[in-house]
Amino acid sequence: MLFTNRKNLKQGYEIYKSGKVKILGYKGNVVTAEIIDDNTTYSITLNLKTKKKSCTCADSLDKRTTCKHVVALYFEIYQAEAKNCYDYYIKPYEEYLDKRHLRLALIDKLSKLDRADLIDLIYSLLEQSNQDTVDELFYKLDNKSNEIEI
Ligand SMILES: [Zn+2]
Repeated sequence: MLFTNRKNLKQGYEIYKSGKVKILGYKGNVVTAEIIDDNTTYSITLNLKTKKKSCTCADSLDKRTTCKHVVALYFEIYQAEAKNCYDYYIKPYEEYLDKRHLRLALIDKLSKLDRADLIDLIYSLLEQSNQDTVDELFYKLDNKSNEIEI
């Protein structure tokens, strides 16, 4: 079992997909590989049985989290696992990052509008909205909850 975070998982997957993982050889259960990324060569070993790992990058000084290079090597060896990880963890994470990026860009644009333009924008959105959205906005502006307890 290897433990890593979503960022290393995503970046490791990208390194694996780009074909940068070069397996140098096997010695028993230990795989030796190198990855050339951003003009730097990283040397990696991974014991497939014990999952003991090493990498020459700075991130691998943190022993708890598996660095992106070891993740890339792991995916190179277990390609079906790479596909599963992509579907279950990486793709949803990418979608989350895309949405977050879009929201931040939108907030940035909205913050640059003056009051009259904001009102025009809200008005045009309300024209296209259903009654529930209009009701919700009305209650929010009145600081009331639109949930009714019966
Ligand atoms: Zn590394």
